[in-house]
Amino acid sequence: MKFHYGMKTIGIVGGGQLGKMLADAAKKLGFKTIVLDPTPNAPASLSADKQIVGSFKDKQKILELADEVDVITFEIESANAEALDELEKKGKEVHPSPKTLSIIKDKFEQKNFLREHDIAVADFALIENEDDCLKQGKLFGYPFLLKARFDAYDGRGNFVIKSEGDITPAFEKLKSSPLYAEKFVPFVKELAVVSVRGKDGKIVSFPTVETVHKNNICHIVRSPAPVSEEIRSRAETLARSVLSALEGVGVFAIEMFLTADGEVLVNEIAPRVHNSGHHTIEAFTASQFEQHIRAIAGMPLVDPSPNAEVSVMINILGEQSGPAIPKGVMEAENLGDTTVHIYGKMETRPERKMGHITTLAKTLSEAEEKAVKARKHISI
Ligand code: ATP
Ligand code: MG
Repeated sequence: MKFHYGMKTIGIVGGGQLGKMLADAAKKLGFKTIVLDPTPNAPASLSADKQIVGSFKDKQKILELADEVDVITFEIESANAEALDELEKKGKEVHPSPKTLSIIKDKFEQKNFLREHDIAVADFALIENEDDCLKQGKLFGYPFLLKARFDAYDGRGNFVIKSEGDITPAFEKLKSSPLYAEKFVPFVKELAVVSVRGKDGKIVSFPTVETVHKNNICHIVRSPAPVSEEIRSRAETLARSVLSALEGVGVFAIEMFLTADGEVLVNEIAPRVHNSGHHTIEAFTASQFEQHIRAIAGMPLVDPSPNAEVSVMINILGEQSGPAIPKGVMEAENLGDTTVHIYGKMETRPERKMGHITTLAKTLSEAEEKAVKARKHISI
């Protein structure tokens, strides 16, 4: 079971679109994959060899997965870090290190960690009650952000507090989670760098991208980011410092803010493959998914070369509620240099990530025009 023609089996905690694209990359390199996800027929089950149905927080299920695989990785921060840590202590290979996952999964701890390592972040403070929040508003000024420390994604754990009057509604929304506050960064652009560390310690980064969010959800990724060479290399150096501070093998995505005076701050780290790296499937000789599998399997990393001057990625978000029936994929791909990925989620919902489009071109405006046109062909 464990060795398939001498090849390793990789266990992935989480079976969403990230797990699916990881399983695709693993298959290409000759590995088997087993994913753990609570939803039967999760997206990754289309590409993996097997799915174990269960929560990624359930220790028993993680142990069950561990029993069947040679190395474990995860595609979601809410994976049970204690269970993974226990497994690692027992000698199981888990990448990236569960210790790093524990730091990152608590956004407040993550910010503390970055500050301790002299990495620039927005000012932040622990919040225990509405009174703390009121005090922090006086120190930070308005607006500022109240954020859930755990399990937040696509901005669901964030509340922008514009005035004192927003504090009570913010607590109403976020009260089920421990919280912290963060100073508002008046950024001019959001940037991201996807970096990977191999078992030999080598670090490779993809070029800095620009990410554009709509309603806190990643909407567009432009690669390379339309900023000066100096800013791009500043972002890549910052990503390298983050990786040097953190332990762990595999892909890390570093989300950043660029301010008007050219300062680059870290927004947050994802210890996993990330939406800001989806374009790498078509746009580079090795994708973020392939690099991650190579890293955790102890294979050499690729120094990725671009397959085109630029690329643009647009997310396909759900438009209605009900069974997912994608339409217009062929028309979109017929535009040329355009690839549509549909994740295979059974149900669509407004704003749910259902797929993405990547276009390759000579200029960013050409790529984006085509990606927008492609998106218009698709309904889901
Ligand atoms: P995702 O899953 O997209 O990474 P998330 O739930 O982890 O989202 P954050 O990354 O904390 O949330 O924030 C989502 C978006 O909200 C950011 O990309 C940015 O546009 C905005 N934002 C977050 N923090 C700040 C801040 N301190 N100042 C200004 N804008 C912010
Ligand atoms: Mg984020």
